[in-house]
Amino acid sequence: MIQYSCTIFLMLFSVLTFAQDAIIGFTPEHAKKEIALEKEFENNLSTKNLDQWMQRLSAKPHWVGTQYGRQNAEWIQKQFKSWGYDTKIETYQVLFPYPKVRQLELKAPTTYKAHLSAVPIAGDSFTAQGDALLPAYNAFSTDGDVEAELVFVNYGVPKDYEELEKLGIDVKGKIVIAKYYGSWRGIKPKLAAEHGAIGCIIYSDPKDDGYVRGDVYPKGPFKNKTGVQRGSVMDMPTYPGDVLTPGYPATKNAKRLSREEAPTITEIPVLPISYEDAQPLLAALDGEVVPPSWQGGLPITYHIGPGPAIVHLKLEFDWQLQPAHNVIATLRGGEFPDQWVLRGNHHDAWVHGANDPVSGMVALMEEARAIGELAKKGQKPRRTLVFCAWDAEEPGLIGSTEWVEEHKAELQEKAVAYINTDGNSRGFLGVGGSHSLEAMVSEIAGEVIDPQTGVSVKERKIARDLVNGGNEKFELYALGSGSDYTPFIQHAGIASLNLGFGGESSGGEYHTIFDTYPHYKRFKDPEFEYGVALASTAGRITLRLANADVLPFKFNPWHKTISKYVKEILKEIETMREKAEKHNDLIEKNAFELASDPRKPFVKPVKMKSVPFLDFSPLQNQMAVLNSTIEVFDQIDPSKLSRDQRNTLNKNVMKAEQALTSVIGLPRRSWYKHQIYAPGFYTGYGVKTLPGVREAIEQKNWKEAQEQISVLSETLQQLNDLIATMNTIR
Ligand SMILES: [Zn+2]
Repeated sequence: MIQYSCTIFLMLFSVLTFAQDAIIGFTPEHAKKEIALEKEFENNLSTKNLDQWMQRLSAKPHWVGTQYGRQNAEWIQKQFKSWGYDTKIETYQVLFPYPKVRQLELKAPTTYKAHLSAVPIAGDSFTAQGDALLPAYNAFSTDGDVEAELVFVNYGVPKDYEELEKLGIDVKGKIVIAKYYGSWRGIKPKLAAEHGAIGCIIYSDPKDDGYVRGDVYPKGPFKNKTGVQRGSVMDMPTYPGDVLTPGYPATKNAKRLSREEAPTITEIPVLPISYEDAQPLLAALDGEVVPPSWQGGLPITYHIGPGPAIVHLKLEFDWQLQPAHNVIATLRGGEFPDQWVLRGNHHDAWVHGANDPVSGMVALMEEARAIGELAKKGQKPRRTLVFCAWDAEEPGLIGSTEWVEEHKAELQEKAVAYINTDGNSRGFLGVGGSHSLEAMVSEIAGEVIDPQTGVSVKERKIARDLVNGGNEKFELYALGSGSDYTPFIQHAGIASLNLGFGGESSGGEYHTIFDTYPHYKRFKDPEFEYGVALASTAGRITLRLANADVLPFKFNPWHKTISKYVKEILKEIETMREKAEKHNDLIEKNAFELASDPRKPFVKPVKMKSVPFLDFSPLQNQMAVLNSTIEVFDQIDPSKLSRDQRNTLNKNVMKAEQALTSVIGLPRRSWYKHQIYAPGFYTGYGVKTLPGVREAIEQKNWKEAQEQISVLSETLQQLNDLIATMNTIR
């Protein structure tokens, strides 16, 4: 009751006091100053710098441990220094496997020896750098030498194995071949091994990633027949970062697990190949013809097997510790030096990495340069800025994870937020992250102009969403994994954002030798206009967080989104209940057998266990309480608070994301502390929101689901208590 009347009072108040140009978190007077500052910052951004720096950083392959990688780190450091930043390189010793032996042969019914290498392209001299090009492989595949019948498993995701089971096909003791896509790649060998396979081959099918999509490189941007996607298959959903030092930094003298003990190296050998190499293997398969949705783009009828194709796969890696060099550049805040706004992008690449990661890295550098220039002219940010260029992101977010693990306590004390970027290209703004920052990001997206159309990047994004059946709101997507924000948000509980432009620049260059400067200039963002749009968006976010009177976090949009997640879960469990009832009814009626082709193999389905009723009331009640608490908080007007009051408020707001973590972490993967966002255990990069509860339900572990409802409710109570404390500041 008291809260209610208080809300009305404050609402009236804010209507009266907010000037027209007010921005979230600023007093009217400071808002004017901030808007002018951001305009000046934006006017300072240059496409030329982005272009030149990309040519410098992507001139040679630069994966972790290479000489060029180290030179890039030192060069980035030098630039930051010249712009007035305090800089250092923080180095970790991390396990990184280099491919020594890669052999793949078809032994029966015909023979074929896979080439396993992409062919250089006329007109793109970067693709002809010979031995400097890292051979195509999946990092953190185990060593192995296996020979067995081959089975085609479509994308190799859980529902594909359900389909195989229906067809009576077992992959035990076999080598599986799976298409890229449908999940993060690391899920494919993980599931194959869980089902008893002894080897895994992953290839890029032309339907998803090749000539079915468009002209191939060099005529067009898509994957040609020899292109191979490299990439990590480390079990990142268990923990990312150095595989030998889980949860603590990989410093020189750190205590390390043995390689045999490391749980995030794959159980079975896994190798990525091109569609040129995949075709003879797939053509040699017989047995069942694949279900229609499994058919790919090669000019053959796809069969599942097993056999008669027999393949031999041999892989050996050089397992060495390599130095991962993170560049850390700091601009000390003029008023609140102990409050840090962090901004990061990785600098390592699988090969040249013009798009991934250099296109994002050069935008970050341009922001830092323009902000440094303003600071030199006396317009220093009020809070400290920390720019980070991470190494060893590609093999498993290693540089950023080790750094966060080393500095966790300090970060939890001082970090305001972490803003991440990675590859960037022509198209639409996409932003994921902490939903408490949604209102602020939406405001900024309305101020940045789209270079092609002249409307704001927010208007453009919403227009596309509307055309695709979406709504009229600018929304953040939830963060799963796939770039360096993971250790910040999911391990340390630091509010995070990940942003980039894209959607009008598809291609097949990702993690291949074709991700080069010429490819980028022709197909990605030829004029670097979207590089500057990214610098403008990320730079404004950074500056706004750095200069706000009251940190621009809004919990109302956050609450709406989390309520949506709760509803989704309630609906999902209802759907599961209906599905089980219907399935069991069809078994009673013998319908599956009668509906199947008697000449084809038939495996009688087993009855499903009925879905129990879970008690969601602790969660629902907690959400209701939070709603009232947040209503009061959202009416706080910064211009009505004293400087001390604002400071107290900010120190608490900085802890809000941490309030959403639990010390014990998620079941079976305690490194992941966040209770709202996590990468899916069986989706990899794909997010699972409210992961403890949702995944227990998906796995039909009802006891655990009920326990996780309690854990989640207690976590939400932590946030409620924190916000309630802040509501007393006035
Ligand atoms: Zn990247």
